Amino acid sequence: MATIAYKKMLGGQKMPAIGLGTWMSTDEQELERALNAALEAGYRHIDTATVYFNEELIGRVLSKWISSGKIRREELFITTKLPVAGVHEDRVELFIKKSLEDLQLDYLDLYLIHFPVASNYVGAPITPPDQLKVENNDLLAVWKKMEEQVDAGRTKAIGLSNFNQKQVERILKNCRIPPACLQVELHVSLQQKELVDYCHKNDIVVVAYSPLGNPSYNNFLKTVGQDGKELPNNLQNPVVKSIANKYNKSPGQVLLRFLIERNIVPIPKSVTPKRIEENLNVFDFSLDLEDMEKLRELDRGEIARICDFAFFPPLKNAPEYPFSSQL
Ligand code: NDP
Repeated sequence: MATIAYKKMLGGQKMPAIGLGTWMSTDEQELERALNAALEAGYRHIDTATVYFNEELIGRVLSKWISSGKIRREELFITTKLPVAGVHEDRVELFIKKSLEDLQLDYLDLYLIHFPVASNYVGAPITPPDQLKVENNDLLAVWKKMEEQVDAGRTKAIGLSNFNQKQVERILKNCRIPPACLQVELHVSLQQKELVDYCHKNDIVVVAYSPLGNPSYNNFLKTVGQDGKELPNNLQNPVVKSIANKYNKSPGQVLLRFLIERNIVPIPKSVTPKRIEENLNVFDFSLDLEDMEKLRELDRGEIARICDFAFFPPLKNAPEYPFSSQL
């Protein structure tokens, strides 16, 4: 079993320095096999969200592992997220309780506000785009309710996802419990140096979603009736491939190690047991300074953003839309 490093979080908790992503994993058999393979390989950190519609299945698998004595609850690190439909001071408790029930857990390790936007969106294609509405809810009031979930013991830590620097700063300046984590898109083509430095300076653990550059994103867009877009081809990048050859590692392992060297926690998603294991085996080598520099040069900035959430059309005009707004 691979040995995984841990990242200390504000509040004293320890987050395993790599996790398993589960977005777009809704096929029951496939996800069950993936979770079993991941837990066998040594993953202890699992990332999900209400809008991934897989919390119940994850709950069933975890409950089998815990009740059979193969794993203790305290060894696991489970993150889930408050959906945009829950971004309202009266709805946080409702949504976290539902996640806990579906995951069959007494507490979460980390609960994130999924997106700094409130809306009636409960998931595609459930809410047709022409019926989407944006609400102007107060994120500070929502954060207060997030803090109350820690007080009530429903989650050990709370954090943010898809917030830009200004939005994180606003929470930090007006909170009782600071966000322990920011989860954003991060990979070799979109390195977000300024945001990462800001978080690290404020002891916020940075978690990288789409750490490989999600090669299946265009398939997802088709399922929600959107056209594909040009994706950064990180896994096929010749610089990444040549560094992988040098260390006798795969391109995926180099992309994940690059993030780990930057003190960032990647959560690669895979339902393929061989890749699940491969993605975890990134703690037995390190990249030298010259290779780190070559990888840093692959940053293309905003143009390489995959997950711009253009699939919620009206949200692009929301005042809190994270990637354009400076609120
Ligand atoms: P990833 O960058 O993790 O890419 C996942 C894709 O890469 C899958 O198609 C997978 O295929 C393939 N893959 C995995 N490992 C390898 C490998 N070693 N070599 C080649 N291909 C590989 O993208 P995600 O967008 O899924 O991001 C990871 C996780 O981050 C999500 O699953 C989710 O938990 C979280 N996330 C959070 C968001 C947020 O708003 N907070 C937004 C997006 C993601 P296969 O499964 O077929 O093996």
